[in-house]
Amino acid sequence: MPFEDVLFTDFNRKGASTQTGFERVRLYFEPDGSEYFTESRRRAVTRYFFGIPTNSGVSDYRVSGNHLWIGERRLGTVRHMTDDTCNSTYARENGDVLVLNARSKSACRGCKFCHTFRQTPKDIYDIPDEDMVPKAIEEWLGGQEKADLSHVRQISILTGCFGGEQKVAEHLRLVRKASSRYGFKGELLYFGSEIRSEDALKSLSDASPFGLCLSLECFYNREKILRREKASLTLEQAKAVLSLSKEMGFTTCFSYVLGLESLQAVSDGMKDFAPHITRIPVINIFQPHLPSQSKLLSPEARSLEYFLDARKMLESVFGSIGYKPNTWENYRSPWYLKFGDEYLTGARVPSMDEHIARKHL
Ligand code: SF4
Repeated sequence: MPFEDVLFTDFNRKGASTQTGFERVRLYFEPDGSEYFTESRRRAVTRYFFGIPTNSGVSDYRVSGNHLWIGERRLGTVRHMTDDTCNSTYARENGDVLVLNARSKSACRGCKFCHTFRQTPKDIYDIPDEDMVPKAIEEWLGGQEKADLSHVRQISILTGCFGGEQKVAEHLRLVRKASSRYGFKGELLYFGSEIRSEDALKSLSDASPFGLCLSLECFYNREKILRREKASLTLEQAKAVLSLSKEMGFTTCFSYVLGLESLQAVSDGMKDFAPHITRIPVINIFQPHLPSQSKLLSPEARSLEYFLDARKMLESVFGSIGYKPNTWENYRSPWYLKFGDEYLTGARVPSMDEHIARKHL
């Protein structure tokens, strides 16, 4: 396992102290020339991107003087560190993916592991009508200095909660229609848990190519951990929705927060769900933002070994059916340079372009 993968897993689970006063920051990290980052140099990876908590109460990482440190050891340079605000739109994959927070996500509350309560709201849109989607697209294109969306391979719709699957489905069709006018032909990915019925899924054939990432988040104690609307989806219902989506030819997966449940529970749940999806789940390392939030950690997940063992187990479950993670999709993943025996290639930052990165998109 490359050293970087161990380091970044640990960094993500702990966060880092900073002198910014922000509760959560995003930053670009450039490894220094030490032997720690041999694999990054070999793979010509010069930059990584992270969003991390600054006040977890357990971190031995710190950002000081534009550098990242662990104890007294300097690890590399930090660039463009800013408040990790909750924005309506932002880029991934060097600007080839547009993420649209269609409802004000910053106002969403209820899932105990969530960090929206620590984020500064800048998601002014509540996209209630047809005019707001083109406005959001135009503003994002302006920031990216692009004329249209013809280069964009995915628009990812993240929602807090819309308040009903009909509203979500209508919104998704609206985004497809509006983005087509800007030359978008890529995948429309819905990331949420409100689309549940066959009728709603069928109606999304109009928005194809379409992808579903069901925000499952955990397998057990769902009513204690998740907001009520999300917890109301049972595991059997979740598998049925995923299977339907798969049958309809949609890209199908789910999201999961790693650290809330025992390794055995993760393993059992992943094996149970694997036949119902078409790609590896989006697996986020749990980032407690307060010492009190750390109480949600499974006792096993209080050590780095848990995350490294989980990684190996997940490689065995999903590698055996040919699924592997995208480097651009998740900045708090258990994988960075390698998945099993395979080196991972692809974009790792929202933007490599200095002046666009400086705009903190
Ligand atoms: S649904 Fe849960 S995880 Fe998603 S934004 Fe709302 S509180 Fe956070």
